[in-house]
Amino acid sequence: MTLRFDVLDTLRVSMDVWCAIRTYPKHAEELGNPIPQEPVFFLKSSSCIVSFGQIDTCGGDVHHEIELVLKLGDDLMPTEMALGLDLTKRSVQDRLKAGSLPWAEAKAFSGSAVIGDWVEYNPNAEYVLQINGNEVQRGSLVEMSWTPRELIDKLSNWAPIVKGDILFTGTPAGVGPLEAGDVVTASLYLDGTCIDTQSADCV
Ligand code: ZN
Repeated sequence: MTLRFDVLDTLRVSMDVWCAIRTYPKHAEELGNPIPQEPVFFLKSSSCIVSFGQIDTCGGDVHHEIELVLKLGDDLMPTEMALGLDLTKRSVQDRLKAGSLPWAEAKAFSGSAVIGDWVEYNPNAEYVLQINGNEVQRGSLVEMSWTPRELIDKLSNWAPIVKGDILFTGTPAGVGPLEAGDVVTASLYLDGTCIDTQSADCV
């Protein structure tokens, strides 16, 4: 068995992308979802990852979800963070949810994991999403129902997370559709100072 795991380790060429949902009570409320007692997670393929720059709105069905994305280091502690968009095909998700079906098609389509530049992790991070210059979402790690450490601990109870994996931490209230022609701007703040800005044109 030991040999088998060693072989798998050498075959592992990409990170897993874990995503937490309903970590912000206000966002759970706006979608009419119950606020879970324990965090809930899903997976995106690492092949879904793209950088900012251009977003395909898939005819206007894609919703923005700004999230802080964490990269896990030694002891699974978050070492780096980045602005991220957990793009979601909302009507597809609603249809799948109504049928109690897995929602991979709504969450793990090509280009659905938009990630900006990695910077050193700081638990005081705040982030803002603007569309065409208007603020639509604002969040900070301290507003979440669980700390990043608690999310990782709870995920590690059942998931094979390893160093190098990525965690989308969930989105604050204010999600909505993107339209072709929209300009999306995400900003990351520390103590009121903007330390990173990413933008994308919607097509
Ligand atoms: Zn999300």
